[in-house]
Amino acid sequence: MDLKTKALLLSIGRVQLSRPQDGGQPSTAGPGAGESSVFFQSGRRLVRLSVVDRSPLSLEVRGDEALISLQGRAISRGRMVEPLLHSPGQAYITVSERCIYDCRFCAVPRLKGGVKSHQRVVEMVKEANATGRLESISLTSGTEVSPQLEGERVAALVCDLKQFGVPIGVSVNPFPGVNRMLYDAGADEVKYNLETPDRILFSRVCPGLSYQEIMDALEEAVELFGENHVFSNLLVGLGESDQSLRQGMDELTDRGVLPILRAAYPHPLRLDEVDITRPSAERLLELARYLRMRLDQKGLDGRLALTGCYCCTGCDLVPGRDL
Ligand code: SF4
Ligand code: SF4
Repeated sequence: MDLKTKALLLSIGRVQLSRPQDGGQPSTAGPGAGESSVFFQSGRRLVRLSVVDRSPLSLEVRGDEALISLQGRAISRGRMVEPLLHSPGQAYITVSERCIYDCRFCAVPRLKGGVKSHQRVVEMVKEANATGRLESISLTSGTEVSPQLEGERVAALVCDLKQFGVPIGVSVNPFPGVNRMLYDAGADEVKYNLETPDRILFSRVCPGLSYQEIMDALEEAVELFGENHVFSNLLVGLGESDQSLRQGMDELTDRGVLPILRAAYPHPLRLDEVDITRPSAERLLELARYLRMRLDQKGLDGRLALTGCYCCTGCDLVPGRDL
């Protein structure tokens, strides 16, 4: 799969299966939380697609081979990849599948899912480790009661999960003291999502969250965890301009943070609340090339990430891995 084909697949984001038995695993994290998805690998590139009933993209599995077609025309041959827990090679676990915030594009508050107990999370990682395929652990969490309590919950998990001897990344809502708490617990990497660099748009789509608090936490995180080990999602497709995205990438990379350019996903549970235009393949490519250029300018390298989306690469064009 060449870079343009991956961009095309990401811009569509959804695939229909020729035969329902060809796969699709329910996901509790990422763009299509609550929906089924598949991982398709071709050459060194991997893509994750949500499984839907109707899409211009279709996927056919024949033995070990998988074929993706666009409106009946074959565009990529490869193979299916079994995720370990949500992501290939990773135990990527959503601890609290609910959230007191109400970001307009996010399915988590609507799904009102459960909160996994400490013991349950440790057991899930133990099972993943028993496969011999565990390379890293990523813990993400909505906020059940408060960012502080969620941070404490996840920090206690990190302490326990160090026993598996693999890198651990954490993504939670930040609060004063969050970095020290997670660092002392043994986390290797953190992610705090700015979601959109357009501050007016931010206040509309992320009510109750503070852009400045997230940016401050990211800046502080780099001092503790180091460059290339702190991340932030920037969504593409909420109505922001490319210029604002480039400014956001500049602000983050100036601070040693690795931005994740994520195509916004119009989740069925949020359709009436936010206008999402899935970005074109050309837009994704252009923005990813700008990000690659900025990382190079700042001496940052996506290949040094140990956990999370820069390692997985399923949902994005990842600098250092895809381009
Ligand atoms: S804070 Fe995170 S989990 Fe909560 S609603 Fe916003 S994006 Fe979703
Ligand atoms: S890129 Fe990130 S959000 Fe997407 S499947 Fe991989 S780990 Fe999950």
